[in-house]
Amino acid sequence: MGPVIPIRAAAAGCTDVPVLRERGQREVFCGLAGIVWLHRKIQDAFFLVVGSRTCAHLLQAAAGVMVFAEPRFATAIIEERDLAGLADANEELDRVVLRLLQRRPEIRQLFLVGSCPSEVIKLDLARAAFRLTGRHGGVQVLHYSGSGIETTFTQGEDACLAALVPTMPAQAAGPRQLLVAGALADVVEDQFARLFRAMGIDVHFLPARRARDLPAVGPQTVLLLAHPWLSDTARALQERGAQLLPAPFPLGELGTTAWLQAAADAFGVPQQQFDELTAPGRQRAREALARQRPALDGKRVFLFPDSQLEVPLARFLATELGMHIAEVGTPYLHRALMGPELALLPPTRLSEGQDVELQLDRCLQDRPDLTVCGLGLANPLEARGLSTKWSIELVFTPIQGYEQAGDLAELFTRPLRRRDLLAA
Ligand code: SF4
Repeated sequence: MGPVIPIRAAAAGCTDVPVLRERGQREVFCGLAGIVWLHRKIQDAFFLVVGSRTCAHLLQAAAGVMVFAEPRFATAIIEERDLAGLADANEELDRVVLRLLQRRPEIRQLFLVGSCPSEVIKLDLARAAFRLTGRHGGVQVLHYSGSGIETTFTQGEDACLAALVPTMPAQAAGPRQLLVAGALADVVEDQFARLFRAMGIDVHFLPARRARDLPAVGPQTVLLLAHPWLSDTARALQERGAQLLPAPFPLGELGTTAWLQAAADAFGVPQQQFDELTAPGRQRAREALARQRPALDGKRVFLFPDSQLEVPLARFLATELGMHIAEVGTPYLHRALMGPELALLPPTRLSEGQDVELQLDRCLQDRPDLTVCGLGLANPLEARGLSTKWSIELVFTPIQGYEQAGDLAELFTRPLRRRDLLAA
């Protein structure tokens, strides 16, 4: 296998493409959804949603099929009450937390997760977290908001990790270390850890699998984001001195190589060493993608805004699988984080925010071969004869890195195969 050829910007990428900005009705999950993957990642944490019955239903529906042991999340239901009832609500919350910690002594970190109902908004969860940390020595109580008013789907993870940043120890002066931020499936994290360590890079991950292993941060920290939705976390880490490395996200063979290369360059890893270490993974990823490519090459895909993964996914589908992008929508376009991706994405229609009716009209007019969208839009689009892929699956499934490149591509070939089978 030849030397690594760095991923290059498309001749005229999407950097300067005009963005269609829409502000209308949105069809996205709220940030509570992040609990589904965060509770599996941080193994001694518990997520207590302070919310309504709707929040409890959402969590059960989103996570119900994935719970194998006693879950590490729950909802403290705060019923409607007037302002005079707030003192009671605080006492009730304290009682719930006390019962929980007595029953689950293994919990080391407790997240109070805020939600939308007005009764919850009136509660001061910052003060409650401070009060409860003082009361339950040994358990760190933190808070963040997963409210649908403030957050979409993946922003819950951003809010959770940003809440962790002030509790990270200060990094002592010394050699630089790499901090990879973003909850990755353990298997993916282990693969990346092995590669970075083989390059001689001292790497740490946020979040850590255990509360006590929270990495340190400081001016010697070089920050690499694993997910595009971590803008608040990145800002909080930068405020503590970390230097953010601009890079595409590690999707596909080329995206993964460019992501790893950004870290390797920052740490002065010799190019030959980098090429030798990444060659086997790149080869496996190429072979896996070659198997999926015939089903996707030349097909058109439309991506509705949902997880903020849309731009990196579109780049992957276009540059590695030959798909044509009809439209790529994203809830927010954070140019500082998305710049390297936009430079690689072939020119296409790019939209930010959502006015769902207008976007549906464009999609129906485009008649793409495949539409990536949230659960709420999938059935109506299928009923109109369009093949869909649920975007939530792309967040719940390990898709980053060389070994997962084929699985990622297969997530897009499956709906097309199903359509062909039904048509046969
Ligand atoms: S946080 Fe808000 S949007 Fe999310 S489930 Fe609860 S009430 Fe619904």
